[in-house]
Amino acid sequence: MKVLILGSGGREHALAWSVARSERVTEVVCAPGNGGIAQVARCVPVNLKDLDAMVRLAEAEQPGLTIVGPEVPLSLGIVDALQERGLRVFGPTRAAAMLETSKAFAKQFLQRHGIPTANYAVCTTVAEFEKAIEFFHAPIVVKADGLAAGKGVIICASRQTAVEAAQGLFAGTLLGAVEHQVVIEEFLTGDEISFLCLSDGKHVTPLVPAQDHKCIGEGDAGPNTGGMGVYSTDEMLDPAMTEWVLRHIAEPTVSGMAEEGTPFIGVLYCGLMMTARGPQVLEFNARFGDPETQALLMRLDSDLVDALEASIDGNLAETSMRWTPGAAACVIASSAGYPGKYKTGLPISGLAAAAKVPGVEVFHSGSALVDGQLVTAGGRVLGVTAVAPSLEEALARAYQAMEEIHFEGMYFRHDIGHRALKKKP
Ligand code: AMP
Repeated sequence: MKVLILGSGGREHALAWSVARSERVTEVVCAPGNGGIAQVARCVPVNLKDLDAMVRLAEAEQPGLTIVGPEVPLSLGIVDALQERGLRVFGPTRAAAMLETSKAFAKQFLQRHGIPTANYAVCTTVAEFEKAIEFFHAPIVVKADGLAAGKGVIICASRQTAVEAAQGLFAGTLLGAVEHQVVIEEFLTGDEISFLCLSDGKHVTPLVPAQDHKCIGEGDAGPNTGGMGVYSTDEMLDPAMTEWVLRHIAEPTVSGMAEEGTPFIGVLYCGLMMTARGPQVLEFNARFGDPETQALLMRLDSDLVDALEASIDGNLAETSMRWTPGAAACVIASSAGYPGKYKTGLPISGLAAAAKVPGVEVFHSGSALVDGQLVTAGGRVLGVTAVAPSLEEALARAYQAMEEIHFEGMYFRHDIGHRALKKKP
C-alpha cells in the first residue's frame, strides 16, 4: 500500500519512519516533507494552506491511506474533501476538528457534557470581557478562539493585563488575526500530561502518556516554543488514573461528539492538568502532537497502519496496540534565536554518528537537503529521540547522540525529564 503523509516536521518524520516499518506499506510519500524525511519517504512539494493543491496531489498519487499531520489542513477540511473523492484518510472532519480549531467550541462542549475543565467565560466584545473578568482572580488565562500556532494562550498577572491582552486579540494587533471570541480561563496548577488516544468515533484506544517541555529555557524559563523536548514513561499515569481519564474525559468526549452529529475519528489529544481537584482538560488537539509523537512512536511495538485503519473502519475495539515497556525521550535541537528570529541554511553534521547510539533515531523538524548537504531550515531543527528500559537511560542515550551533532548556534535543553527525575525516590 502507498501511504501519503501531509506535513513537514518531526511529527511527520516519526510517522513516516513508523509507517515505513509496516509490512503492508510499499511506498511512503510525504508532502512537503523535509531533508530528513527524504531518507524514508519520497517528498513532493505542496502548500499545506492550499486545500485544492493538497486534493490535487492526493488524486494524482492515489494513496491507499493519507495521514494528516498538522492542524491547518484539518481546519481547511482536507479530510472531508478526500473522503468525498473516495480516498481513505486518517483524521477528523472539519466539524470534528473544531475541538482544536475553536477554543470557545471546545470549552462549551466540555461544559455541555460535564467533562472536567477550568472555569471559563467566552466573550465576544471587550466590554463583555471587562464584565466577565470581575469573576476571575489573577493570574488569569486569556485564550484566542482560533488556531494560533501555540501563541494563543496568554497568562496574565493582573486583570488589567488580561484586558489589554483581550483588546489586542479583538483588534488583531496581538496575533495578526482579528479574534471574534476570546476565552477567559481560571489558572490551574499541577503537572501537565499529554494523553493521546485513537478514536474511531465510538471507541477510544489510549497511546502511552507523555510530558512536553514548552519553554525555551532550562527550569521551564523563558518564552513558549512549539516544544523543546518530551518524555514518556509507564509511571506517568498508573492504570487506575488511565482508566479514570478514559471514563471521565476521553470516552465522554467521543460519545458527546457522536451525539452531536460530528463523530470524532482520528487522534484525540487531551492536554491535561493534573490538579488538586483531579485531571482537567486544558485543551484538545485533533491530531498527533509534536514532539510527543516522536517519543510515542519509538515505544510503539505494533503496526501503526493497522491501528490507523482500525480507527477509520470503526474497529478499534477489536484492535490492540502494543507498547515497549520503559521510556522514551526526545530532545529538540533548535536554531540560535528561536523562538525569535533565527538563521537557516547552516550545515548539519554528525548525524551518522548520532544514529549509531543504540536505541536512537534522529527525526528532522526543520532541515533541507541542498546539493546533497543537510542544512537547517527551521527554528526547531532535530528531535533526537531514544527508547530504553528506564527514563534515565533513554535520556542518557538521547544526550549522547546529541553530543555527536553540530550546526552553528545549535541549542538544546539539558534538563528534559527533570520533573520525573525529581520525583524518583
Ligand atoms: P493550550 O494551547 O490551551 O494547551 O495552552 C498552552 C499552555 O498554556 C498549556 O500547555 C499550559 O501550560 C498553559 N495553560 C493553558 N490553559 C491554562 C490554565 N487554565 N491554567 C494554567 N495554564 C494553562
